[in-house]
Amino acid sequence: MPVEFSASVARLPDYPVAGGYSLPEDVALLASNESPWGPLPQVIEAAMRAVQRANRYPDPSYWDLRSALSERYGVAPTQIAVGNGSVDILLAFASAVLEPGTELVYAWPSFSVYPHLPAASGATAVTVPLDADHMHDLDAMAAAIGVRTRLVIVCNPNNPTSTALPLDRIAAFVEQVPDHVTVILDEAYCEFSQLDDPDASIELLDRHQNLVLLRTFSKVYGLAAMRVGFALCGSEAFVKALHQVRQPFLVNAAANAAAIEALRHQDAVRDRVVKTLAGRREVEQGLEALGIGFATSQANFAWLQLPAGTAEAGVVAGLQERGVLVRQGAALGQEGALRVTYGTSEQNARFLVALGELVA
Ligand code: PMP
Repeated sequence: MPVEFSASVARLPDYPVAGGYSLPEDVALLASNESPWGPLPQVIEAAMRAVQRANRYPDPSYWDLRSALSERYGVAPTQIAVGNGSVDILLAFASAVLEPGTELVYAWPSFSVYPHLPAASGATAVTVPLDADHMHDLDAMAAAIGVRTRLVIVCNPNNPTSTALPLDRIAAFVEQVPDHVTVILDEAYCEFSQLDDPDASIELLDRHQNLVLLRTFSKVYGLAAMRVGFALCGSEAFVKALHQVRQPFLVNAAANAAAIEALRHQDAVRDRVVKTLAGRREVEQGLEALGIGFATSQANFAWLQLPAGTAEAGVVAGLQERGVLVRQGAALGQEGALRVTYGTSEQNARFLVALGELVA
């Protein structure tokens, strides 16, 4: 007799991993929306110092990290939850607010982890298609909220389409959501958006106890491998519930120390945003020159539409042969598209030359 697994194991999709982990070092890794720039020396030193005390468990309240986040973002530490990447926090929300018989609403295509929440919890997913400009259709999402809805997720800027909505539209939407329904605003890429000050959404927390802003050290802070995410919550109740459903030691001590140190270097954050915006210009000008359409990006990546009839898999394979790794749209919810993270100038140029050869 085979071993019996829970029903959720049959439901859970495989996360579409990007691959490229055993490729030669000089391959341009433009598939996972990471930062092309490594951690600051001070951040590496802080992590190394923490490793010297690795025989001790970390402080399970993560008070130092939550206080540092509080200082930076102006939200009380008691309203801040941390996690092993923001995905850890997302998945904990599945246990904390969902269960069979309830519903969650999110757009599609959007972040590939969202389908794990209904699968893990037994809740029902109500997915709302993006509009023709690859943007969230907030009116349709509001209409999709019903008596069973417990959770709504809005990804702004949206992965994989790179598009964002201005904060006034988001604010008007949150206003429409009933108070007992949790709204997660996934802002993993908010620092790269030119639409609003990335800190502006924090003010919404004063008006909406049911709102959660999900953020990460994996993108602009350049610490994807350390796995630290955080949630700025409208209410302490979220922090308590997340604490209840998760293991006590969420963030390892090296990652904890690295994140605290990274927060001290906001000048580096600004510098990386400036460099990312330059990368956006390089990639967009190159795509325009090739006559390839792309969504209006407010993120650190492009969502481009291949010319009709182009075999997506062939382009991805051809790019890889030329030393460039990107993500195939089909794996992310839309065929005929590619998602390309902006890299260094050299990597962006390599990508554009290679793409030009493949679509010529
Ligand atoms: N949200 C979105 C929209 C993302 O694209 C990602 C990373 N790909 C994350 C959250 C998760 O990031 P992490 O777990 O590394 O914090």
